[in-house]
Amino acid sequence: MPRYSYVNGHYVPHGEAAVHIEDRGFQFADGVYEVISCVSGHFADEVGHLDRLERSLREMRIAMPMPRKALQLVMREFIRRNRIKNAYVYIQVTRGAAPRDFKFPQGDIKPTLVVSAIGCARFDMAERKNLLKKAVTVPDLRWKRRDIKATCLTAQVLAKQMAVDRGAYEALMVDDDGFITEGSSTNAWIVDKKGTLVTRPTDHNDILKGVTRNAIQALCKKEGVKLVERAFTPAEAYKAKEAFITAATTLVMPIVSIDGYKIGDGKLGKLTSKILDFYFDYASDKKRKQEHWTPT
Ligand code: PLP
Repeated sequence: MPRYSYVNGHYVPHGEAAVHIEDRGFQFADGVYEVISCVSGHFADEVGHLDRLERSLREMRIAMPMPRKALQLVMREFIRRNRIKNAYVYIQVTRGAAPRDFKFPQGDIKPTLVVSAIGCARFDMAERKNLLKKAVTVPDLRWKRRDIKATCLTAQVLAKQMAVDRGAYEALMVDDDGFITEGSSTNAWIVDKKGTLVTRPTDHNDILKGVTRNAIQALCKKEGVKLVERAFTPAEAYKAKEAFITAATTLVMPIVSIDGYKIGDGKLGKLTSKILDFYFDYASDKKRKQEHWTPT
């Protein structure tokens, strides 16, 4: 457990870290966040996550609480003070604290900035390849601006719990037209019957464009893996050769069962294994140039 959290310019003991009760993040979920994996002291995909943080803030019309360079210094000082090397580092920005009123507050209200972390185990590739998980599908109850990584996560909390109640790790959410949108906190991928890698497109702004997804997309191009962006249904996913989910916290997580249907032979698929390998090489290599994240 990290010892310090960062709140509005101060590194405070974690147990005492707090924001005001009239913080708009608390009252309205009027804020955005990012989570970045810190792998052996290196922020994996940092560039992409900060690109998306800036974009989420722009879409919400919240100012960056400080320039990107300054925030990167805070992130580094944060892990230095906490003496952590492997962690999920959370950056939360809200519109700030103001007397309760739905509309944006007027005047000199400063955004709230919190940096906190959850320690995690050192990444072990052999162990990761044995992490084979199940998923189930659930209705997608979320709002219409899912492209913004906003903090209103009620629907995702409910979806994740539905998955847990049904003995699964992740909930793959289904839209009104019967297509899978994404996982409750991950992007969803399949390798279809023909062996093609498929994931839902992001240009309709109806899912969150994962930074991990974005980097894998670029890496697939470099590695000669053909990727088709199209929506797919649960029925197609049940018959897929392979399935996996991606996110900063799960990286590339094989899915071997969906709604009780065994995916492929129920084991780690070849293409999934390859993508896990090349994504991890990319994410853990300090010298490698990081991919930029773009909204579509
Ligand atoms: N989709 C949703 C709904 C998410 O909440 C997340 C991450 O939290 C992702 C996808 C994956 O995004 P990233 O790869 O940037 O972690």
